[in-house]
Amino acid sequence: MRKKIVAGNWKMNLNYAEGISLFSEIVNMVRDEKKGDQQAIICAPFIHLNSLAQLGGSTVSIGAQNCHQKESGAYTGEISAKMIKSVGCEYVIIGHSERRQYFAESDELLAEKTVITLQNDLIPIFCIGETLDERNNGSYFEVLKSQFQKGIFGLEGNDFSKIVIAYEPVWAIGTGLTATSEQAQEVHAFIRKEIDAKYGVEIAENTTILYGGSCNPKNAAELFAQKDIDGGLIGGASLKSRDFVDIVK
Ligand code: PGA
Repeated sequence: MRKKIVAGNWKMNLNYAEGISLFSEIVNMVRDEKKGDQQAIICAPFIHLNSLAQLGGSTVSIGAQNCHQKESGAYTGEISAKMIKSVGCEYVIIGHSERRQYFAESDELLAEKTVITLQNDLIPIFCIGETLDERNNGSYFEVLKSQFQKGIFGLEGNDFSKIVIAYEPVWAIGTGLTATSEQAQEVHAFIRKEIDAKYGVEIAENTTILYGGSCNPKNAAELFAQKDIDGGLIGGASLKSRDFVDIVK
């Protein structure tokens, strides 16, 4: 079943006390707003995950923003999918454009991270998106296709059916320049068509595809009303409880 999801991505913000305080507000407010099949998720820095997973209960699920591609070992400073799972997380963002850009994460590395995430019974939120140049020169469909073919199309259908995809145009992230609902819908429909061609109509129809990039309480309703947009990955607006919960609403 295609899920409706609003996922917050706190990125590298909030100290421990600030995170607990914001999350407690969000849980209390979401409890009143969330309907049946909707899912609210907060993807927080590693230091918050254990406490948030306990506070979130069945109201707000927890995700990490990254994980290492190996099971365990001599990788000083890294965090494994197994560790993330052990504190009660359910999701991991994989391939956010900031990881691709600032940490040089390649499609091949992201494919490995996706596999280890699934092996540890976590759901990857796999991000793809084009830059402004790629949008303007018309190559964006090719760019996106290459990102998802190399990153997630190596998966068997059974594994693929568990993942969530997030389309986040790089030019829209943190810029206030949201994609129009037509621009976003065009890409979401394209992604779903490619999934259909590879995995068949049932998996394509059941895949949750989120939009991310300057999504806020003003534009969320129109974006999420599009046929192939199943919710959002929210950066800046997830740092304010009222904004995040208004988007859920
Ligand atoms: P933004 O970030 O909502 O602040 O644009 C979205 C994201 O990077 O996931």
